[in-house]
Amino acid sequence: MTMEHADRYNLAVVGGGSGGLVVAAGAAGLGARVVLFEKHLMGGDCLNTGCVPSKALLRAAKAAVAARDAARFGIRGGTGPGVQDLGPVMDWVRSRRARIAPHDSVERFTGLGVDVIQGAGRLVSRNEVEGGGRRIRARHVVIATGSRPRVPDVPGLAEAGFLTNESVFEIDRLPPSLLVMGGGPIGVELGQAFQRLGSRVTIVSSSPHVCPKEDPDAAAALAARLRAEGVTILDGARATRVEVQGGRKVVTVTGQGAAPTSIEVDEILVAAGRLPNVEGLGLEAAGVEVTAAGIRTDASGRTSVPSVWAIGDVAGGPLFTHWAGHQARVVLRNALFPGTAACDRENLPWTTFTDPEIARVGLGETEAKERGVPHRVFRVPFEGVDRAVCDGEEEGFFAKVVASPKGKILGAAIVHPHAGDLLAELVLAKKFGIGLPQLSATIHTYPSLSEISRALGDAYQKTRLTPSTRSRLERVFAWLR
Ligand SMILES: Cc1cc2nc3c(=O)[nH]c(=O)nc-3n(C[C@H](O)[C@H](O)[C@H](O)COP(=O)(O)OP(=O)(O)OC[C@H]3O[C@@H](n4cnc5c(N)ncnc54)[C@H](O)[C@@H]3O)c2cc1C
Repeated sequence: MTMEHADRYNLAVVGGGSGGLVVAAGAAGLGARVVLFEKHLMGGDCLNTGCVPSKALLRAAKAAVAARDAARFGIRGGTGPGVQDLGPVMDWVRSRRARIAPHDSVERFTGLGVDVIQGAGRLVSRNEVEGGGRRIRARHVVIATGSRPRVPDVPGLAEAGFLTNESVFEIDRLPPSLLVMGGGPIGVELGQAFQRLGSRVTIVSSSPHVCPKEDPDAAAALAARLRAEGVTILDGARATRVEVQGGRKVVTVTGQGAAPTSIEVDEILVAAGRLPNVEGLGLEAAGVEVTAAGIRTDASGRTSVPSVWAIGDVAGGPLFTHWAGHQARVVLRNALFPGTAACDRENLPWTTFTDPEIARVGLGETEAKERGVPHRVFRVPFEGVDRAVCDGEEEGFFAKVVASPKGKILGAAIVHPHAGDLLAELVLAKKFGIGLPQLSATIHTYPSLSEISRALGDAYQKTRLTPSTRSRLERVFAWLR
């Protein structure tokens, strides 16, 4: 069959979420002919059921805490611990989503010159995609179909019913009690938000501590805050059965070596990992290799088929919007121009947006020890940053850098309510080889939280003043008197 000119493209994108939209907009902006298949909602998980609604919910929960805690700042009128009416809170959450949605809309992308096809796309050959009643041919195909919640195979769970990120932002009644399955970023973020809004939250986490990708000290600081706010955290535990009794859900939780316990709750939220959306895409027929984690790609984003690329959650993660966006830019470059660039995994930052936030880039302390990487750790508390003290946000919070013996930044972590924003300077420094001595020599505004970076630099500089250097200096100063 010969194909009409109208059906020939430089680039076809399957999936209009965080990754796919960046490729489509970028390619169209460069003058390439682009088609985008989206089977459900433009904006994908991030806009509709992920980053955006979860951050808006966390913001509302923070407001509830601020109202309760006003007396701490000498302000009258604190509301005391209260159970919030979830309806208006969810109205706020949905209003934020609606505010951002036009940026990802069919209208905007059509205006940018992208042919948007509303339907599921499927590879029918290495260069052909079918969907929404169309069949097109493209020199390059980018698969960006994202992921979905992994629902653990717990007897009785399906019958009892549960929430996931796909349904939790659609409820309007606050569950008086909520059991969260999973202590990763999604579990702790939503767990804290619901606790602050008035639910009694239990987090069941199969790993030894919540946020298992973080160093134990960072995770412990967050866990301490969550527990202080009333969240029950069961580490090293699993939900093994769910039963419905008198309209409530009774979850059997089995811990390591401990006897099973029963926890009765009104609602269950499953946040126990993600599965890549690889089904129904015609990947096998086209010869695209898939593993349990997702579509296999090399560092350039290319799959086992040279004309097919994969980005974002479907390529096995790391599962972040900004990683999907970064991969999108790299794939765009590699598909449309000569030469090959690689994705920069080494300098990927991430943040868990709880209060306090945990922000991280590069090598962790635990990882450095396990891998035997020569390193030194510089850890400074926010107690020494005056702005944090003025804000009443210093206790238990810290920043640390895992550095090479000569002060090169190999990794960094910050635990603080504004950690995600504060990390940016350290990410830039790490990526472009700016070391701790240069951070020490950089002027930071007083009193700003950013002084934490200078404090890290100073901590390194202090170690350069050995006792013998100091005694030599003392002799020089004595001679100069
Ligand atoms: C609750 C929650 C909170 C999160 N918070 C953050 C955060 O704060 N920061 C962060 O960086 N990340 C966060 N994430 C992760 C982030 O949402 C994902 O990493 C990101 O959305 C992945 O982008 P993607 O392009 O791979 O997939 P998506 O953005 O999900 O897009 C995939 C798109 O493909 C479409 N699709 C699927 N199959 C087909 C098909 N066959 N044909 C056509 N279209 C198809 C889907 O409908 C969807 O629109 C969060 C995730 C969750 C669940």
